[in-house]
Amino acid sequence: MRDAARISELIESKRDMLLAISDEIWGNAELKFEEYRSAELLCSTLEKEGFSVERKMDGMETAFLGSCGTGRPVIAILAEYDALDGLSQVSGVARQEPVTQGGAGHGCGHHLLGTGSLAAAIALKQYILENGLSGTIRLYGCPGEEGGFSKTYLVRDGYFSDVDCALTWHPSPANLVVHGSSLANINAYFRFKGKSSHAAFSPELGRSALDALELMNVGVNFLREHVPQEVRMHYAIVNAGGRSPNVVPAESLEYFCMRSPKSEHMRAIYERVCDIAKGAALMTGTTVEYEMDSAVSEAVPNLTLNKLIYDNFARLGTPVYDENDIRIAESFRSIQSQEARKAVPAPFTNRPVLDALLPFDENEITHMGSTDVADVSWVVPTAQCWVTCAANATQLHSWEMVAQGKTAIAHKGMLHAGKILAITAADILHDPAIAEKAKRELQERLGEQRYICPIPADGKPSITGRSGDRTGDMR
Ligand SMILES: [Zn+2]
Repeated sequence: MRDAARISELIESKRDMLLAISDEIWGNAELKFEEYRSAELLCSTLEKEGFSVERKMDGMETAFLGSCGTGRPVIAILAEYDALDGLSQVSGVARQEPVTQGGAGHGCGHHLLGTGSLAAAIALKQYILENGLSGTIRLYGCPGEEGGFSKTYLVRDGYFSDVDCALTWHPSPANLVVHGSSLANINAYFRFKGKSSHAAFSPELGRSALDALELMNVGVNFLREHVPQEVRMHYAIVNAGGRSPNVVPAESLEYFCMRSPKSEHMRAIYERVCDIAKGAALMTGTTVEYEMDSAVSEAVPNLTLNKLIYDNFARLGTPVYDENDIRIAESFRSIQSQEARKAVPAPFTNRPVLDALLPFDENEITHMGSTDVADVSWVVPTAQCWVTCAANATQLHSWEMVAQGKTAIAHKGMLHAGKILAITAADILHDPAIAEKAKRELQERLGEQRYICPIPADGKPSITGRSGDRTGDMR
């Protein structure tokens, strides 16, 4: 860990600006692929800080690439800035109170994620200059992490082909580095078309798209017995065919999310779900169209980089909290269920803020979520740390997480994450052999396996932020 003090100083010197940016993105709360103001704020800041900026990277309106430095190693720092639907929430209060009824909120803390990554990139630019180092820092502005998965498109389209290492972080109720994989994930729409008719006078003339949808769900629920334990299948009925029971529904639309520890099994499960949909259409005399909306692979862990980022985190220590932080954390703790609290292992169960760094576990485990960081990890050695930004046991994707997004705990975690990423990148800039070692590890681990992009070669991101609102024609 080189010059941690100098890197910390560089980030602290931009503290006011960084906090203002994070708070503004929190207020924007823009949904996947609609992060226009948030992306522009990050781009204009990068330009003011002397970065060259490519907007609309890979044809995505809210993707961007900020670059500084020259030559190798090329280090990617990943940023996200999309919010979640239905989580609008007033800041700082431990009771549910939307700013806008039904509006969006930063329930996954991506306003902090994007700004913390920006902090690292800005500090590294100055650090490279001061130390006369060779190396390129790229801040990847990756929109639509919440189900849109822009990084999968960027990997497919070669935007990481010359990158040596990728680093990122995520806001969390705990400090940790997960050395393990994540679930591959395919999201797809299924649209049934039937024929409307009077449900009492002439039911024999109707063909119910709702029947088809229900039979599809029955079929998928039977499928659960015949898939590996870790497979997850969830669905949302987007269009149930209307509100009138006396009309045979002519249309229905369902959104399926399917997950598995391995991409190859994921593809096979998706095909079986498609077959079930076809069977449901056949049974009901309806037709079905289906379309993959987005997909990610499982993550490939990299011990070289995960150990490096963990060791830097351990040496830097964890953020320090004052009485005010503890008081705010306690207010959010007071509304948590016992079940949520007890899910935090001893000896950390009862701490208001989880201020320790959890031990590094070299035994790889698969965590039950999915992320598009995983696709990057197939082509570039990638490390990610999780940094405390909320009261202990706060759940991601909750209004409680939104409410804590502008607290001092969140701000401290964000700046801290920026320091960890920048210090880790500085280590690689000083000693590019680390990147080479990490790349060798990735190659050895993959062996004969090649990255197969889980989305079609001509697939385009779905621009509809509210996936539940999607009622237009299938692309
Ligand atoms: Zn997230």
